[in-house]
Amino acid sequence: MTDIRRLARPHLLALKPYTSARDEFSGEAKVSLDANENAFGPVIPGAYHRYPDPHQKALKNRLAALKGVKPEQIFLGNGSDEAIDLLIRAFCDPARDHVIINPPTYGMYQVSAEVNAVRVEPVLLRPDFQLNIPELVAAFRPGSKLVFLCSPNNPSGNCLDEASVRRVLQHAPGLVLLDEAYIDFVPERSLLPLLDEFPNLVVLQTFSKAWGLAGLRLGMAFGHPELIALLDKIKAPYNINQLTQQLAHEALGQEDEKHRLVAEICAQRELLREELADVPGVLHVFPSDANFLLVRVADADRLYAQLLAEGIVVRNRSKGPLCEGCLRLTVGTPEENAQLLAAMRRIGA
Ligand SMILES: *Cc1c(COP(=O)(O)O)cnc(C)c1O
Repeated sequence: MTDIRRLARPHLLALKPYTSARDEFSGEAKVSLDANENAFGPVIPGAYHRYPDPHQKALKNRLAALKGVKPEQIFLGNGSDEAIDLLIRAFCDPARDHVIINPPTYGMYQVSAEVNAVRVEPVLLRPDFQLNIPELVAAFRPGSKLVFLCSPNNPSGNCLDEASVRRVLQHAPGLVLLDEAYIDFVPERSLLPLLDEFPNLVVLQTFSKAWGLAGLRLGMAFGHPELIALLDKIKAPYNINQLTQQLAHEALGQEDEKHRLVAEICAQRELLREELADVPGVLHVFPSDANFLLVRVADADRLYAQLLAEGIVVRNRSKGPLCEGCLRLTVGTPEENAQLLAAMRRIGA
C-alpha cells in the first residue's frame, strides 16, 4: 500500500491547521457570537451572513451516495483547479520533486506546477493519443511525485485505455492523478472503482462540464482518506462558499436533467462530426468521448482568425505537440453548430 505519509511533504505532516470558529463549535447554538459575522443579516436577501460549513458535510454525504464512495474519500475544491494546485503543494518539494504530464493535455497541470516552482517532465502521448507506457515508465524517478493522466483527454477527446492506466498505477513511484472532467459524457469508462484497488490513485471530476455549472466553481477529488485529510488540512477553511454548496445540492436533485443534457450534447457532437467531415479543407475530425471535437484543417491559424472575425471563437490548439493544424471546437446548441458550419463552409477551412 502506498504510504501517503511517506510521499507527502514532511513539514505538512507536523503542521497544525487553522481551526475556524465552525471547527471549535459545530452544533446548533441559540446565540452565535463566535465568528464575527454580521448578526443583523446580509445586505441582500438570502442566508449569507454565516460562514459556510468548512467540511461540506451534507454535500459530501450526498455525493458519496451518488458516486459509491465514502465521504472521507471526497475532497471538494473551488474547481478541480484548486485540487490540482493543492495536490502539487501537498506532495511536491520544489527543490527535489517533479510532476509528469502527457502532452497534448490540459494546460493547468503545467501552470500549477510552475506557479509552485515544481519541475514538469513531459512524456508525449502516442500519435493515437494513448499513453506511451515504455517512455512513461522509463521516466519514473523517486521524485516523480505526481503523474497527471486525463481521460477523456483535453484536447484530443479520447479515453485512455484502462490497461495502460493500470500499468501506470502499478509502476508509478508516487500518486496518479486521473482527471475525469469529461467522464459524465462516457460514464461507463470511469475508473473511479479502481480507488479500492490502488491507494495511489486520485480521480478528479467536476461540475463544470456535463452539469453545466462552470460558474459555480466546484470540483471533486476522490482518493484515499489519508490523502483527502491532508488536502483538507492545507485548504483555505471556507473554500466552498455557501451559495455553491446550496446550488450543488439542488443540482444533485436534477440528475435526470444532466443525463438529458449529456445525451443531447453527445448527439449534437456526432452530427457535427459528420458535417465537419464534408467541409472543404477539413483534413480529419478525431473521434471524441467529450463535449468537444479536435479537428485538423489545412490552415488552422487562418481559419481561427476568420472565424473570430465572424464572432465565432474556438480554441486554436495548432501549436501543441501532435496537434499540428488542429482547432478544438466545443459542441454548441444546434443553432450555434449550424452557424459554425456555415461560417466554415463560407471561409473554406
Ligand atoms: C474543464 C476542465 C477541468 C475543469 O476544471 P474546473 O476547475 O473544475 O472548472 C479540469 N480538467 C480538464 C482536463 C478540463 O478540461
